[in-house]
Amino acid sequence: KHLANIAHPSLHESVGGKMPLGLRRRGLRVLVTGGAGFVGSHLVDRLMERGDSVIVVDNFFTGRKGNVAHHLGNPRFEVIRHDVVEPILLEVDQIYHLACPASPVHYKRHKTNVVGTLNMLGLAKRIGARFLLTSTSEVYGDPLQHPQVETYWGNVNPIGVRSCYDEGKRTAETLTMDYHRGANLEVRIARIFNTYGPRMCIDDGRVVSNFVAQALRKEPLTVYGDGKQTRSFQYVSDLVEGLMKLMEGEHIGPFNLGNPGEFTMLELAKVVQDTIDSSASIEYRPNTADDPHKRKPDITRAKELLGWEPKVPLHEGLPLMVTDFRKRIFGDQEESTT
Ligand code: NAD
Ligand code: UDP
Ligand code: UDP
Repeated sequence: KHLANIAHPSLHESVGGKMPLGLRRRGLRVLVTGGAGFVGSHLVDRLMERGDSVIVVDNFFTGRKGNVAHHLGNPRFEVIRHDVVEPILLEVDQIYHLACPASPVHYKRHKTNVVGTLNMLGLAKRIGARFLLTSTSEVYGDPLQHPQVETYWGNVNPIGVRSCYDEGKRTAETLTMDYHRGANLEVRIARIFNTYGPRMCIDDGRVVSNFVAQALRKEPLTVYGDGKQTRSFQYVSDLVEGLMKLMEGEHIGPFNLGNPGEFTMLELAKVVQDTIDSSASIEYRPNTADDPHKRKPDITRAKELLGWEPKVPLHEGLPLMVTDFRKRIFGDQEESTT
């Protein structure tokens, strides 16, 4: 408990450094908002492994306690049920701000993105913590530049059905830079491209989780539109690595964090068929409005300044996710027999 009073700037030096044994810290105090979610829980695993003390703030809107249950009981871990739209008082060294229902079917995201981000920035300012925002490739909208470079300002419909997400994140980026310029806050911005992996929400409507769940349940894979639109899919461990490098590094960003391997939805369906069930059929459905036609990150900046690039290609990452989905959809019994 006494460690909680150590001032922030000395912390980096003090890790394993020359502090008296009684005061030596094993790690930083890190807040992860949205830490019970898909990406957040994998990040929490890595921070705990590193020896940090981790506080998760989550309202369990799309996240699950089960994602972090294995840390409960560890004195370095704490989870608080809280909506970031309400203010909160905490003392930490770093804030990873992930809270935001990321799935396309939750359409009250603007409030979390705007008010929630403002609160977390206010918190970071009060305690002098470093703040990392997880923004999204959606800030590029339906991009007129391909692949997308961080300097591209995007092509976003401000009043469309997706606006609460993409405009919400654009506002969050603006607020983050305002606090950096106006209050001297140390900030980092990541623009995350489509990410998949174990612990993803099964029924939140994203394409990889839909296809995998459908193939496992012997249902047709639902391809929206003509299936020729493209996305680039990143495995979650690569993303977590990038987020931590960004937080620890010297550069504000924004940084694209994504896997440049680009697939049409029909190509993705083929990879899912090859991985799970070659007899899975395809069913075409009308596409959603304002659906971006293509998306692929240019990751030159992250490569050069963070020394980061993704390592796990789709055909290697997908089976890891399938194992997890199989377990969650059919239970452990089925898993042990397959
Ligand atoms: P997720 O839905 O699994 O995780 C989000 C977490 O935030 C959940 O645990 C949810 O309960 C929590 N949350 C939502 N609203 C909250 C609120 N008001 N207060 C407190 N907690 C709240 O989604 P994810 O895929 O893990 O996404 C994490 C972050 O990464 C999000 O900010 C998302 O926008 C960003 N991102 C993700 C992807 C992707 O492909 N997964 C792509 C781009 C950006
Ligand atoms: N805030 C918070 N925790 C804190 C400090 C601030 O939740 O430890 C919230 C605060 O309630 C406000 C927001 O963050 O709604 C922005 O705070 P800031 O101090 O930057 O703005 P102000 O309150 O001066 O408008
Ligand atoms: N999509 C699809 N079938 C589905 C779900 C989504 O073909 O069951 C398409 C969707 O129209 C979009 C792409 O897959 O073109 C990616 O959608 P997702 O919601 O996963 O991510 P985002 O649109 O946010 O990139």
